[in-house]
Amino acid sequence: MIDYTETLINLGYLVASILFIVGIKMLGKPETARRGNMLSALGMLVAIVSSLFECCLSFEWVIAGLVIGSAIGAIAARTVQMTAMPQLVALLNGFGGIASLLVGWESFHSQPDSNLFITIAVILAVLIGGIAFSGSLVAYGKLSEKISGRPVVFKGQQAANAAIIAAILLGAALVSYNPDAFYAYALFILIIALSFALGVLGVIPIGGADMPVVIALLNSYSGLAACAAGFIILNNVLIVAGALVGASGFILTGIMCKAMNRSLANVLFGGLQAGSSKGASAADQGEAKPISAEDAYYVLEAAASVVVIPGYGMAVAQAQHAVRELGEILENNGAELRYAIHPVAGRMPGHMNVLLAEANVVYEQLAEMDDVNPIMETVDVCIVIGANDVVNPAARENPDSPIYGMPIINADMAKTVMVLKRSMGAGFSGVDNPLFTRENTRMLFGDAKATLQQLIAEFKEN
Ligand code: NAP
Repeated sequence: MIDYTETLINLGYLVASILFIVGIKMLGKPETARRGNMLSALGMLVAIVSSLFECCLSFEWVIAGLVIGSAIGAIAARTVQMTAMPQLVALLNGFGGIASLLVGWESFHSQPDSNLFITIAVILAVLIGGIAFSGSLVAYGKLSEKISGRPVVFKGQQAANAAIIAAILLGAALVSYNPDAFYAYALFILIIALSFALGVLGVIPIGGADMPVVIALLNSYSGLAACAAGFIILNNVLIVAGALVGASGFILTGIMCKAMNRSLANVLFGGLQAGSSKGASAADQGEAKPISAEDAYYVLEAAASVVVIPGYGMAVAQAQHAVRELGEILENNGAELRYAIHPVAGRMPGHMNVLLAEANVVYEQLAEMDDVNPIMETVDVCIVIGANDVVNPAARENPDSPIYGMPIINADMAKTVMVLKRSMGAGFSGVDNPLFTRENTRMLFGDAKATLQQLIAEFKEN
């Protein structure tokens, strides 16, 4: 006889999986990203409701978890600052990792004598979930400056990591070989403890600066752990969702490394030499030329083409609405306007896109680095708003610079460059920026939002 409940549950899982895949695809473009997010959330609701029809579930616990989790999530999403988003994502990854670990632990606890396939899935869930949990907590601590962001390195660190990995592999082999053995449970708990240790030791040598890349990687780990958990409880949608998170996390990690021109190995085991003063050639040691908002107005008023390059400072200043307002004024003044977005501007992928979308900047005006660089020499004014590393010409010109090879937006090639920032201070990489002392650059010092408001006032007065 056909089991209709089972069929309906699987149908629900199929619909949820399709919604996840279409939703992720839609996240790839700013125009469709919001709807993609909603679609994926709807998929998660369908998945949860479908799973409630699985047998033997205790509804009270599920509903209690749903209510508590949704309340915490809603408060966190509403109160978190955009600049603190990477650490929130780190925490969420960590929770995903520990959830998969707990599924694996419960399964081993209640059915230690499952078949070999399930035992391996259990071990993978606790191992990867444990690494994702403790690694994400360290990443959270570094990003929120609750612990030092400096790389923590000690003698014999690599050897300690290798010894832990060897011990985990040996323990996993022994547990898989005979899960009923009297020592199996103790070994299993040891594997969990070692996974936590490996997560901590893997992330502490990485500088706070590289945490966003590490978070993308840990995100993919938490997906893989969820995938393993899906095999343990034989839940199709968990397997699909976990695999999607695992794959997209890896792809995102690759994109971030490429945009910084660094290998993953370099991020995990190397790290930038923060605080370096390298990057400026002798020819660049000139004086910066400050400009007042009033004089900047005259330059902008005469510009026929303007490219706005936002960076982390725009997020800090929360200047996105003022950026949009100035953009509209420039367009009404007859200028052709574009916003050039570097893939790693800000502190997380898509950071600038999200802020500009929040301020209702039209998507058609957003241009990618590769589209805007070829026409940069024809641009009258480039307005650099709180960006630094992503427009640092040393990355293109100076082989001694620690960021040499990182693709940049060639702001320096525009006829005039206006840089809005508070000081001559370095950006995220700690590297000096010769753009600030170039002949065609004018520095508009001050908080980006305040400066933009002054420019807007100048246009309104004149
Ligand atoms: P950046 O190089 O970090 O520079 C930001 C600049 O903003 C600073 O030099 C700072 O100068 C200025 N600033 C800060 N607060 C400001 C305010 N209130 N008003 C005006 N200016 C302000 O930023 P970026 O050019 O966007 O480059 C991003 C960096 O992050 C890259 O090195 C990238 O590799 C790294 N990163 C990004 C991601 C990602 O996913 N987006 C991930 C990992 C790493 P003052 O202090 O002088 O004002």
